[in-house]
Amino acid sequence: MAKIQKNLQIINEKIEQAQNGIERAQEVKVIAVTKQVSTERAMEAIEAGLIHLGENRPEGLLAKKSEINNSAVWHYIGSLQSRKVKQVINEIDYLHSLDRFSLAEEINKRAQKTINCFVQANVSGEQSKHGLSKDEVIPFIKSLEQFENIHIVGLMTMAPNTEDEAIIRNVFRELKNLQQEVVNLNLPSAPCQELSMGMSNDYEIAVEEGATFVRIGTALVG
Ligand SMILES: *Cc1c(COP(=O)(O)O)cnc(C)c1O
Repeated sequence: MAKIQKNLQIINEKIEQAQNGIERAQEVKVIAVTKQVSTERAMEAIEAGLIHLGENRPEGLLAKKSEINNSAVWHYIGSLQSRKVKQVINEIDYLHSLDRFSLAEEINKRAQKTINCFVQANVSGEQSKHGLSKDEVIPFIKSLEQFENIHIVGLMTMAPNTEDEAIIRNVFRELKNLQQEVVNLNLPSAPCQELSMGMSNDYEIAVEEGATFVRIGTALVG
């Protein structure tokens, strides 16, 4: 396994390059996705200077969090079953996978604080992917205004699994456009300033298209 420090250096350089063409470049935060690695490896990530950690199962999140007793920022990036909400919702700093009203209802009920949520959109329309269709995102976000514990900080998507960069870029661009539409609604419950997009294979494209959080597993800690 390569040193995380070295991987991070390469990733940071590529992010910087991707930002070069952007007039007023956004700040980009790297989430180390540790779902496939041990707690020890996650600790190495923190030692390498990473602050944001991402997990996609309640078990993985709780196990790592109990052993890593410092000030990491915890991101839940997997799809979340409603019956698992109470286990994790007060343990995390960000949820990246809000994709249905019943989940929002359960979160609002169980939350002991305001929960920072990304609404997950399935921009590419792939059957296998979670998330709301483009048309559903705005009405969904409006419907959440009633939930005082839910704060929509941004939108999240996963690009399709393809080699075709143009297709990937288009998905990220569409998410950015959708985000702007949400911003324009001026809802106090949905400032929606963040874009969670880009993984090991496509984070450079995501940054070029405006990502503020990239979620990187394999290329960083794998
Ligand atoms: C696993 C996962 C990632 C990281 O994927 P890599 O290709 O290993 O970088 C990012 N986002 C989500 C939602 C994931 O499940």
